[in-house]
Amino acid sequence: MNIAEILSVSVNEDNLAWKEGATMPVEYVAALSAASEIGSDLLRVRALDKQAYRRVVLLLANKAEKQGMKKRLFLSPAMAQILAVCAIHEITQPQCLVCRGAKVMVTEKLKVVCHSCGGIGLHRYSDKDRARMCGVSAESWPQWERRYHMVMQILVSNDTAARLSRIKLGKHLYSSVDIG
Ligand SMILES: [Zn+2]
Repeated sequence: MNIAEILSVSVNEDNLAWKEGATMPVEYVAALSAASEIGSDLLRVRALDKQAYRRVVLLLANKAEKQGMKKRLFLSPAMAQILAVCAIHEITQPQCLVCRGAKVMVTEKLKVVCHSCGGIGLHRYSDKDRARMCGVSAESWPQWERRYHMVMQILVSNDTAARLSRIKLGKHLYSSVDIG
């Protein structure tokens, strides 16, 4: 479903009640109305909009380069884009890699709590994961780490959908993002 379809369903949707695991139409409407440029593109990326994806990568990379200049954390345009791609991946795909967010594994008659995430349904991205995503060796990661967190911080502060869901659910949806 693309963002236009989601929105047309959203404004016609009678049942705005919470359904587990689904982003409710009302959230798209609410989030888009209050979102920044990066924030609204992030919503579209979650709805698999390729144009929005390219746009948000460039916007985020650009912002990161500028902020890096101020903080003396210099980023080449290429580095900024790699970090943007990886941070967007992390924030838009928080699900556990084993259960895909289901929290439990259902076999024939058995329902078992996912061993990988312990029933949380989220993947906790490690430095190793992040280095691998960025195509950097584990040894060189420390040189990238502060820059990655800077990019993630820009992204999180623009992520209206996450903020709204957090308020609504009282949960830390992106608890894997530890920004020091
Ligand atoms: Zn899991």
